[in-house]
Amino acid sequence: MHQSESNLRAINISKSYGSLQALKDVNIDINPGTITTLIGPSGSGKSTLLKALSLLEYPDEGTVSLNGNNYVFKNGKGDVTPVPWPDITVVFQQLFLWPHLTLKQNILLPLKKRGIKKDDKTVNELIDQLEMATFADRYPNEVSIGQRQLAAIARAISLNPKFLLLDEITSALDIEYVSKILSKLDQLKNEGIGILLITHIIGFAKRNADQVVFLDGGNVVESGGVEILANPKSDRMKEFLSLMISAH
Ligand code: ADP
Ligand code: MG
Repeated sequence: MHQSESNLRAINISKSYGSLQALKDVNIDINPGTITTLIGPSGSGKSTLLKALSLLEYPDEGTVSLNGNNYVFKNGKGDVTPVPWPDITVVFQQLFLWPHLTLKQNILLPLKKRGIKKDDKTVNELIDQLEMATFADRYPNEVSIGQRQLAAIARAISLNPKFLLLDEITSALDIEYVSKILSKLDQLKNEGIGILLITHIIGFAKRNADQVVFLDGGNVVESGGVEILANPKSDRMKEFLSLMISAH
């Protein structure tokens, strides 16, 4: 297997909203079986990058490649076939759980919609594994934020993604569930899933990250191993980290 073929990669991605350039020639590589943490100030383009990588929003210019498919964009136009979902699956901060469905039904519905056959046993096993059994039959408004986060992650995982992208799901912190979610991400990484985690919590950025990418003003200012968190080169990243640490 060619490593590059199974990577999720963005090449020279640019994206503007009107006169605001949200991403400028961004390059990022997400490898299978690794965790990449994406950090950066609010408004630096993190969510825009995640949406471009997942092809949920088209970049203006650049290429996204997945499994040997190149999705090329020019002037905001491109051809997204074959569709990359659910090989790429995203969990958003807002979670987007259906309020009128129980957590378990929330997990089951996309499977049905996509024609993915999973028996009740497999889904129950996932629910057990995430220790959700006691509340899986409740509705989203009857559980805690951490429990909702688990449900959104379970729903994403059940689609068997090759790449899982998570946008600040940890910002509404429910301490009880943080380590559970992190352990699950570690396990998925060990199973070969490539994970991109947007987070503003330095502990998350550090823990088992194979790659850290610092975005500022739509540019990748620094990227590398976790050691860049201890030894940032740029003033922008130094300043950002000092705020990150004092805020948590
Ligand atoms: P982050 O996730 O790092 O906080 P975003 O990617 O959400 O940043 O946003 C990057 C920049 O693009 C910000 O200045 C934001 O206001 C702007 N932006 C994001 N989405 C839109 C949109 N749909 N329309 C206009 N501007 C947007
Ligand atoms: Mg964001």
